[in-house]
Amino acid sequence: MSSLRVVIAKPSKYDADGYVERFRRGFMPNSTIPYLASMTPREVGATRCEVHVVDEYVQTDLNYFSLLQPKPDARTLLALVGVQSHQLHRALDLAAYAVSRGAQAVIGGPHPMTCDTTMLQGRGVSFALSEAEIVWPSILEDAASGEVRPAYGREQRWKHELDSPVLRPPSKRDLRRYAVPMLGVYPARGCPYSCNFCSVIKIAGHRIRNQPLETTLASLRAAKAARVRFVMFTSDNFNKYTEVRELLEAMIAERIELPFFAQCDAQIHRQEDLVELMARAGCHQIFVGAESFNTETLRGAHKFHNDPARYAKIVALCRDNGITSHFSNILGFPPDTERGVLQHLVTLRELAPDVASFYILTPVPGTEQYDDFLRQGWITERNLDRYDGTCVTWRHPNLSNEDLRHLLFRCYRDFYRAGDVVSKLLRLLRGRRDYRLFSTLFAVFGLSAMSRLSSARRMHPMAGGIMRVRRDSARDYAELRRRVFGFDLAPLPASLVLSKADEEANRRAKLVSA
Ligand code: SF4
Repeated sequence: MSSLRVVIAKPSKYDADGYVERFRRGFMPNSTIPYLASMTPREVGATRCEVHVVDEYVQTDLNYFSLLQPKPDARTLLALVGVQSHQLHRALDLAAYAVSRGAQAVIGGPHPMTCDTTMLQGRGVSFALSEAEIVWPSILEDAASGEVRPAYGREQRWKHELDSPVLRPPSKRDLRRYAVPMLGVYPARGCPYSCNFCSVIKIAGHRIRNQPLETTLASLRAAKAARVRFVMFTSDNFNKYTEVRELLEAMIAERIELPFFAQCDAQIHRQEDLVELMARAGCHQIFVGAESFNTETLRGAHKFHNDPARYAKIVALCRDNGITSHFSNILGFPPDTERGVLQHLVTLRELAPDVASFYILTPVPGTEQYDDFLRQGWITERNLDRYDGTCVTWRHPNLSNEDLRHLLFRCYRDFYRAGDVVSKLLRLLRGRRDYRLFSTLFAVFGLSAMSRLSSARRMHPMAGGIMRVRRDSARDYAELRRRVFGFDLAPLPASLVLSKADEEANRRAKLVSA
């Protein structure tokens, strides 16, 4: 029987000095790697599949490159997963390297799904333009026969019904590479809203699609058996997942007792009974995209469903249920001024969610905002490596690049003042004591400490891990990139237009949610 070596890899990115970002300890494992590994059968026709997984962020040596060397009697497929625009250069370099060693390579994830990659195609590297469920079986079959096509999934971005696999959790050895031994579980995809800066709706569409409830439960059982300590429900609006109550009730009935983190939209303040149910099922943290306290700014970003007057209720509701609240904030919306951002910080500190994260507004390629900024000629950054939410990539009307960077680190520093962090930890210690307590304290203390340390060094705390290690850099791959793709930097892409069928699916979903 012939064999196919399938290397499923999450590429890292290049840092400001051009080095590949690598850490001795990652924050949390990537969720797409186990997902695709679980979708890979043991055999494709008469070919045996041998699966290897690589998360470059936590690979501090380069031994995994040996997986891309020619192997007698076997073909190799390098599948680069979850590739975002700021990881594109790294993905292209790894793919070009693999192809130069006789392997086959395919790049999938948010960037190829939402941006036009036509000019990168036909150069020996393949691109997956749709969800893995639609294209992965064909990619594997073609790779087994030695001929992957230039692109897969042009006709349809989203699968109508999700028949997701039960997740095979990472091995103990792999989990040890992360500060948080966590598994991402994706019970539902899609979001009915239309925030103009958001790539989620371009990646997953407006229609909410659930994976079978039993699949989610089986993945949770497998995670618990594999000694995963936390779960992150990666669905973007857990509170809009149509089977959320059934899932939570089944988790309670089965006593799964795995502390979990969930993202909810800002309308969660209306769902008191749901928050109570989430707490009973093990929720230790709710993440909310608060973004701004300015209603006009939120309207300008088409985030109509956020009402800043209700943010305090979200904090209180979480607190009443022993859940920590995590508010995400975006700095540098077009109307923002220095005074406005500092006022935002004051208001946020008064509200006192347990945790906050801050990002600089980034027109992410593929989003409506990116198209708009490109049309207006506001985009100044040509290097896709910088589109990571921590760099300034466009000309702000009121704030210089240095102002924005300064405000970003000031927000982290001021929000996580030592006195505030200590009083939050003491309050949590005085609160409910159940199996969620360790994860709650760990999350609040860990993020607070990381935020203080990173902001002092002017580094973003969400960069991906701790204890950086520098090994290889973009310079090592520059000639290969030039030879295969014909450029030093990929040109800024146009957004990828949806097929008629996908447009129609979005339109129907909007009608249903209206
Ligand atoms: S609510 Fe969240 S996921 Fe939905 S469009 Fe807005 S930012 Fe994106």
